[in-house]
Amino acid sequence: MMKIQFKRFVLREKWNFSQFWAHEPLINWNMLKKCILLLILASFMSLFGIIWDSFVLLNPITWQWVNLPLVWSKFWTNLLMLVVFLSLIVPCYFYKHKKWVQEIIPILSVQVFTVLLCHTGYLIGSFSPATMVAYVSVVGVGLVLFDRKMIYCALIPATIALLFCNFLSMYGVLQYAPIFKREVLNQAEMHPFWVGSMFFFLLPILIACLCLFEILLKQWRIRETSIQVLSRLDPLTNVMNRRSISNQLEKLHQQPNQLYSIVLLDLDHFKNINDYFGHSVGDQVLVKVAKCLANNLRDQDMIGRFGGEEFILLLPNTTTIQAQNVAERCRLAISYLTFTSEDHQEFSVSASFGISSTLSADEPHLVISQADQALYAVKAAGRNQVKVFTELFSN
Ligand code: GH3
Ligand code: MG
Ligand code: MG
Repeated sequence: MMKIQFKRFVLREKWNFSQFWAHEPLINWNMLKKCILLLILASFMSLFGIIWDSFVLLNPITWQWVNLPLVWSKFWTNLLMLVVFLSLIVPCYFYKHKKWVQEIIPILSVQVFTVLLCHTGYLIGSFSPATMVAYVSVVGVGLVLFDRKMIYCALIPATIALLFCNFLSMYGVLQYAPIFKREVLNQAEMHPFWVGSMFFFLLPILIACLCLFEILLKQWRIRETSIQVLSRLDPLTNVMNRRSISNQLEKLHQQPNQLYSIVLLDLDHFKNINDYFGHSVGDQVLVKVAKCLANNLRDQDMIGRFGGEEFILLLPNTTTIQAQNVAERCRLAISYLTFTSEDHQEFSVSASFGISSTLSADEPHLVISQADQALYAVKAAGRNQVKVFTELFSN
């Protein structure tokens, strides 16, 4: 019993994971899900801050380079922020349907996160590499994920606050990067403690932003590919749609000395099938016929849905005689198919085929038009046959 439940759980998890990549791009997550992601990243950054603060507080050798009371204040701020971030996740998860949670928590989370970044930015220096990278990356990711207004509401006051602190530092009212002692700042880029600290502050931001951008890009590529595939296919039968087959035909035609044949096929008396058995049975017939055609063609041949119950076969490097054989094979295969109506009646269908090739026309639209004339002749001659355009005038 336990085993079965575990298996079910794993299967459900697997399904969720594939859904994550294929169906729910991060950019389309609802606000609260994004908010949880932001809060996790913010907690991760606070944790990195706490690690640096603890390292400094536990290593007396570093005290000569830092302003110890400020390290303590940074430590407590980071700890408080970690608790705040983690507690904000609770309503996002458990009260996600409450209106106040949906409206207030995302704004609050962005604002609190910005306060933490500003506080750390001021302490380590508003123009330090870590602050600059954090500023650019967080604004970039924020604008991609969240509502623009929400980000600007946090970004503008934060920028003003940082610039104001900088202005006060310029006039000696505030110390610039007060967490470091002056002698460290005077030789900042040369000082191993300053360089190491900057690297440590940069690390969580870089890791978090790179991960997010990787996820966003991967999901964007998957979506792009699936949209491209869908835009080329007919949604019912999964063969190429008319636009896509026309593009393939143009491409094929542009190749030098290209020989190809075109087969147009139309299901016979298809309207009767819809009338007798219903539209959905008619749809199933179209799907099965398209599959049957695919099974009877070579890999390089192409199938498209040309109209309602009309298909087009594009056969590269194929003479009309060869195309006639292919069409005859498909005609027989279609006539052998059996279908069952909703009231369990069995029935079969037939199709008429018209063929032409570049041997009798030098423009794609002329080849199609000749194949259409051949198809029309088949319909006039009783249907369920194959005819080649050039043979229409031989008798
Ligand atoms: P013919 O042998 O002369 O081709 O007769 P037909 O009845 O096949 O031709 P007609 O042009 O009179 O009717 C075609 C029918 O195909 C009418 C239309 O409702 C149906 N049809 C077109 N597209 C679809 C579709 O996507 N699904 C279904 N179920 N029917 C479709
Ligand atoms: Mg028809
Ligand atoms: Mg038709």
